[in-house]
Order: sequence, then structure tokens, then C-alpha cells
Amino acid sequence: MKRIYLDYAATTPADPKVIRAMEPYLFDRFGNPSSIHSFGQEAKKGIEDARANVASFLGARPEEIVFTSGGTESNNFALLGVTHALKEKGDHIITTRIEHHAITEPLKFLEKNGFKTTSVEVDKYGLVDPQEIKKAITKKTILISVMHANNEIGTIEPIAQIGELARGAGIYFHSDAVQTVGHLPVNVGESNVDLLSLSAHKFYGPKGVGALYIRKGTRIESFLRGGDQENGRRASTQNTAAIVGMGEAVLLCQERMQEEAASQARLRDKLIKEIQDKIPEVYLNGHPTQRLPNNVNFSIKYIEGESMLLNLDMLGIAASTGSACTSSSLEPSHVLLAIGLPHEIAHGSLRITLGRWTKEEDIDYLLEHLPQVVEKLRAMSPLYDNRKK
Ligand SMILES: *Cc1c(COP(=O)(O)O)cnc(C)c1O
Repeated sequence: MKRIYLDYAATTPADPKVIRAMEPYLFDRFGNPSSIHSFGQEAKKGIEDARANVASFLGARPEEIVFTSGGTESNNFALLGVTHALKEKGDHIITTRIEHHAITEPLKFLEKNGFKTTSVEVDKYGLVDPQEIKKAITKKTILISVMHANNEIGTIEPIAQIGELARGAGIYFHSDAVQTVGHLPVNVGESNVDLLSLSAHKFYGPKGVGALYIRKGTRIESFLRGGDQENGRRASTQNTAAIVGMGEAVLLCQERMQEEAASQARLRDKLIKEIQDKIPEVYLNGHPTQRLPNNVNFSIKYIEGESMLLNLDMLGIAASTGSACTSSSLEPSHVLLAIGLPHEIAHGSLRITLGRWTKEEDIDYLLEHLPQVVEKLRAMSPLYDNRKK
């Protein structure tokens, strides 16, 4: 049977070139990068080359890049680290209603420990209004965290504007750019961010490695304490091979990103148009144009996202409903609720995300089968039966 992967926002396969770049570091170059001898030094060189690649990709300096175990750790580090460094100054954090759980959960933990958060609303497209952020600022605000692009609905946020007003107010600004880095250009200077999270497995690198950009001079506490790796900011022997893989993934994205974004956007727009043409009562979630080039998210009325996924999976098609983290729970996605969808419609969402190896024929295969799957499920749905009675 055909197997078609259309869930690149959950994770991407590592590029074969990435794996090949990693390989020597899993065999001969196994040394501890903190060791003085040649084994250590060659491992250290692998890490420092990767750091230079990541820094240059983001318009940062190498010493502003700290390698972590992924997007989740980078987000935790930014939120916990900055709030603890500045707790004498204030206790208030501003964020949005549509952040990833890797932001919302550490914020809940901070709330349990005396910090206060304001989550600003978004509009029906999932866009954050910078003026709403501005209004939420108090004398006690020490950090603003707004994601670069949303992982479920693909909406790209006005990060540079929010960063500008954060800077004007003298407040640190963090952005979770896990969905953007490697897919669209991200420059830390132009974005006016002080901290930015990225994760390799979302752009064809290995899993379990990411980075946090920390602008020079930013006050931040480390919470992983031990050795003085990563300039004393993140203890623990580095995962050399994974870091090298991330460095290679960055180089490949630098080379191909522009072309890939254009070809994915074309397939995305074809999907958006044809799904609306072929299936009645579907609604596009997210912004019609200001969205990630690889993201399609529809609410399909009268059906359950989960049953749609299972039926598509039987046809060899891998997609998602909500985010990978929420799809095993029965609560509808907080992002879809935040853009104003009623519960029953939020339950019937389908996220299709494209990537480096998506072919036009994959899209055609989906377009050929999705209408039948929807028709079959609607025929069994009491909601559909009752719809106009
Ligand atoms: C995937 C993702 C994360 C988590 O990254 P991990 O590397 O899997 O820990 C955080 N934020 C966003 C927006 C994501 O898409």
C-alpha cells in the first residue's frame, strides 16, 4: 500500500545528508567535547562548526547559541530562566492563547510559584494584535513570549512589531520559532527578539536536539546545573552527533528553503482550493495568506477528527487533528477554541502539513480519497442527520 506522510509539523524525517554528517561522530569522533586530547578536540570542533552554522542562519553570534535537547527545553529554559533572573524586578509575563504546550505548561508551573501571566486573545485567523500586547504591559512585566508561527493553524505572527514594542518598554521578548526556522527566513535582529527557540527535528535534523538563541547581555538563570558546558549555561555532555546533524540540517535549509517554500505553498494552495471545491461545509482555519507555506488546516463539519485520521491512515495517509500532543486527548485543541470555533466544530479539524519530500501525486491521492472518507463518516453521523431539522 502507498504510504503518504503529510504530518511534517509533528516531525520531519532526517535528511540522509544529515545522517551522513552525523555518522563519524557516532563512530571515530566519539570523544567528550570537554576533553583536552585530540578525541575531545575533534568532537568540540564538530559542535563549534554547527554553532557557527546555526548562528549565521539566524543572524546571531555563535556565543549567543545554546544547544538544548529540543524545542521544549529551549522554551522551558527561556521562561524559567528569565523569570528567575528578573524576579526582583517583576512577576508578570505576557503570552497568547495559542502557544504550544511547551509554553503553556511551564507558565502554569510559574503561576503555581507566584508569577502572573496574561494570555492575550487572538482574532479569528489566530493573529495576535501587537496593541493588545501593549495594553497588557504593567510595571511588573518582565517577559513577553509569542510564538513565531502556530503549529496547528500555521498563522504567522507579527513578531518584529511585538519585539519592537517590547524593546521600547524595556521588556525581554521570547519567541517559539520551532515551526518557522528552516521553513521561512528568521533573523533575530529583524525580529527584535531577545530569545528564540528552535528544534532540529522540525527541519530535517535529528530528534532530541534544539537550540535557544540568547541575545548577548540577556539576564537568564540556568536550570540544568553541573559542568560548564555551553559556556556554563547548560550543563551535561553535549550530544555531539545530534548537534552536528542540526548544523548540517541548517546548511541544507539555507540552500533550499526559498525554493521549498515556494513549491510547498503551491501545493498548499491547491489543497486549500480543491478541498473547498470538493467537500461542502468545510472551513479553513488560520490566516488565508499570512500562514506557513506547508500548513493546511480545515474544520470539516459533522465529523470527528479522530475517525477521519483513522480512515485516512487505512488508506496510507498520515495527517493530524490539532497538534500531535493533543490528538490523544478528548479536549478540543485550545488553539481552535481560541480562534472562536465551537467545541463540536473544533473536534472535526484536519491538519495537513507538507515537507521536503511531498510530491504533487501525494496531494492528488489525498484529494481523490478525502471526499469519500468525509462522505462515509457524515453518512454515519447523527450530527449530519440532524443538521437542518
Ligand atoms: C514541536 C514544537 C515544540 C516542541 O519541540 P520538541 O523539539 O519536540 O521538544 C515546541 N513548539 C512548537 C511550536 C512546536 O511545533
